[in-house]
Amino acid sequence: MEFRLISGNEVSSSIYGELRERISSLRSKGVVPGLAVVLVGEDPASQVYVRMKGKKCEELGMHSVTIVLPADTNEADLLKKVDELNNDPKIHGFLVQLPLPKHINEDKVIDAIDPRKDVDGFHPHNVGKMLIGDPLFLPATPAGVQQMLMRSDIETAGKHVVIVGRSNIVGKPMAAMLVQKGKGADSTVTVVHSRTKDLAEHTKRADILIVAIGKARFITKDMVKEGAAVIDVGTNRINDPASEKGSRLVGDVDFDNVKEKTSAITPVPGGVGPMTICMLMANAVTAAEMSMK
Ligand code: NDP
Repeated sequence: MEFRLISGNEVSSSIYGELRERISSLRSKGVVPGLAVVLVGEDPASQVYVRMKGKKCEELGMHSVTIVLPADTNEADLLKKVDELNNDPKIHGFLVQLPLPKHINEDKVIDAIDPRKDVDGFHPHNVGKMLIGDPLFLPATPAGVQQMLMRSDIETAGKHVVIVGRSNIVGKPMAAMLVQKGKGADSTVTVVHSRTKDLAEHTKRADILIVAIGKARFITKDMVKEGAAVIDVGTNRINDPASEKGSRLVGDVDFDNVKEKTSAITPVPGGVGPMTICMLMANAVTAAEMSMK
């Protein structure tokens, strides 16, 4: 079957074009959108993400602040930092990079973020607003998936979308977004997870299959309907002696075998990954625009 590769680099680059215009309009009014990222500890994957976010801010002409706190920072000190950022007029949006060290209660930290600056969209206020269809900030990864579908002209209205995975950052918000009324939504949604019986019976019925479980190449050809659109959120590092690093990234979908059966599919890397950071930047720009109202 003729399939289409949906490139997150291409879709995000058109969104960045729009963001540059919004940033330039804000700057002409004396507002430089400011994004801060707080990192506690030295988790290598988190360090990479935080560096990427800072670099992207600079490329876009945004004000970027990275706050690195030692791994043994206590909860009270982190909450104090959150309070400072809530009250810093140069910072329009910020996030605390997850996961946090075990001795810190993540929920308490997220609760302390001013919902108007919560560019990750994880604050319960923003989760609730998303659920009732009146979002302030949408969580970046599912928002990125929705933009990829819309900007690739993949119809979601009336389509059966099966989401594999039910995390608070991907699966659940993805479902909440796709069942809303309106553009890029109006779908019939099924969410499956590790306790689902006969998982493949569900995935095989998907017009659009969105996978976010963190298991390398878990979705095989026999689990996908002919002509489905497949969005692979998973990022898994596997050993690969042939590569320079000795390892490489693969998705949750067995891409090489599944692609022929699809009408459209996202690669890993170069699929959802670039969209996530792009949607975070979009939320930071929105936060700066809101600060003027
Ligand atoms: P979590 O570990 O928080 O959640 C995984 C979900 O997958 C859970 O709901 C779990 O079910 C389900 N699951 C696990 N194993 C199976 C299985 N065998 N069958 C069915 N369901 C299963 O992961 P995240 O949502 O945070 O991330 C998922 C993947 O997406 C990871 O690879 C992550 O790296 C990637 N990711 C990529 C991003 C990007 O920007 N590209 C951003 C965010 C995540 P249960 O709830 O029952 O345990």
